[in-house]
Amino acid sequence: MESVAFEMNPWLEDRVIVLEDGCWEWLGATNNKGYGKLRKRGKDWLAHRYVYHTFVARIEDGYVVRHKCNYTYCVNPNHLHTGTPQDNVHDQIERGTLIPPKGKCKPIEWYRQRS
Ligand SMILES: [Zn+2]
Repeated sequence: MESVAFEMNPWLEDRVIVLEDGCWEWLGATNNKGYGKLRKRGKDWLAHRYVYHTFVARIEDGYVVRHKCNYTYCVNPNHLHTGTPQDNVHDQIERGTLIPPKGKCKPIEWYRQRS
């Protein structure tokens, strides 16, 4: 990944609050999973995905935008990076934020079945 720090811009300035730890907390609408959201170009976006897609780089199909800071309301592109959905599940399992159901499925299989 590039190491160039992303700078605040006016569009973002109106929509986030900068926290002490460097996270940019989304002030707009949120969904029930704890992510910021917005509607743009006739499409619903997760806020962090939209910010990454718009200001950093186009998100390839099938890729997720992950939070390095683990704060889901954060839209600071410096705290975001892309990965595959499998990466995301691994992250969540490591952090203990995704609890796979007990039973026969392995976590990844369970995730695939859900999506
Ligand atoms: Zn952050």
